[in-house]
Amino acid sequence: MSDAKDLLTYIGAAPSPFHAVAESRRRLADAGFTTLDLTEPWPAGPGRYLVARGGALVAWEVPDGAGPERGFRIVGAHTDSPNLRIKPHPDTGTAGWQQLGVEVYGGALWNSWLDRDLGLSGRAVVRVGGELEERLFHCDCPLLRIPQLAIHLDRDVNGQGLKLNPQQHLTPVWGVGPVEVGAFAAHVAEEVGVAPDAVVAWDAMVHDLTPGALIGRRHELVSTARLDNLLSCWAGVTALAADRDAGPAADPGPDAPVAVVCLFDHEEVGSTSSTGADGALLAQVLERTVNARGGTRDDLLRALAASVCASTDGAHATHPNYPERHEPGHHIAIDGGPVIKVNANQRYATDAGGQAVLIDAADRAGVPHQVFVSRNDQPCGSTIGPLTAARLGIATADVGVAQLSMHSARELCGAADAERFVRLVGAFLRT
Ligand code: ZN
Repeated sequence: MSDAKDLLTYIGAAPSPFHAVAESRRRLADAGFTTLDLTEPWPAGPGRYLVARGGALVAWEVPDGAGPERGFRIVGAHTDSPNLRIKPHPDTGTAGWQQLGVEVYGGALWNSWLDRDLGLSGRAVVRVGGELEERLFHCDCPLLRIPQLAIHLDRDVNGQGLKLNPQQHLTPVWGVGPVEVGAFAAHVAEEVGVAPDAVVAWDAMVHDLTPGALIGRRHELVSTARLDNLLSCWAGVTALAADRDAGPAADPGPDAPVAVVCLFDHEEVGSTSSTGADGALLAQVLERTVNARGGTRDDLLRALAASVCASTDGAHATHPNYPERHEPGHHIAIDGGPVIKVNANQRYATDAGGQAVLIDAADRAGVPHQVFVSRNDQPCGSTIGPLTAARLGIATADVGVAQLSMHSARELCGAADAERFVRLVGAFLRT
């Protein structure tokens, strides 16, 4: 299934990068992918494999008869989204409220987190029988809220804009009464089924509890959290998990490349981490897949030279209320097809060759495409594309689905584009 309802199911199961990896693993395992251990030797033969570490996952399919010099087709995406993360000593409070200290993660639109009922998710490291063990937790119950100041106490807010200090004004409330030191640890302990003193550390974050929905007159729009960039993670996993005989776009053929989907963490904070795109994970995994097939360093470099990477991430649709913020010659329509992103200053990695590969994949998948470039007076964002291109030395191009409200707690895209993107990614991966 590659429709927008399945996208909502995937995003609903993935409030944190760790859960995005867990849900992706589950779907790939159902499609015959074997999880390999990064500390063990890997099998030599063809097949479907994956490795997972924290909020990152690499999955690949080695076709029958592929030698160690066979090129890769790589789809990269990121599992993290801007949000609020719980501090190590979180229990705090003012004026009779019990609150949790949070850190802002990435470039969140702060205002979008106000007056929403928020849940909690993440991973905890717990001590069980003298051993340290990692456990995920995901609580979809309304626990937290960041209340906005009433307009009577902030008369100029509509005309002059909402001004928020992230240290002062984004601290959620989650109860009333005196501050209870240890309350958050006790909550996590209950979530993961251990005694409070067994919780050693956590990576915990908040998420909006409003379920994702198909909205609009004809339900043609997808309204949900974390479209950036779980939509691309979902598309990569769905396309890679597709049956080999599911159609021309899914059939690898005898000279098919090694299809790779890499879901990185930490893109929203610059990608420099052991599980980010600026880390060594993907390069090490690719090298080991070559070594497992008996390849040499020269085989690896030949394989990389024959490889192409699609960096998949959200694109800006032209906003109907702010059309002047967009480059007039490159308006991007919601549901106008996947968007190839170009930036001469290499904030996106796409060059003519990469653009052509993506256009060819779109044509073969039978989906339209659009090309984005930003205004000269409006700097664009960036993606994992330039990092991957530089680290691996392989041709890379940036592509994604058009959306509004990027980095809001709730974003908006077209339902038809989501399904088209899976088809484009499938055509790219297997030819
Ligand atoms: Zn992104």
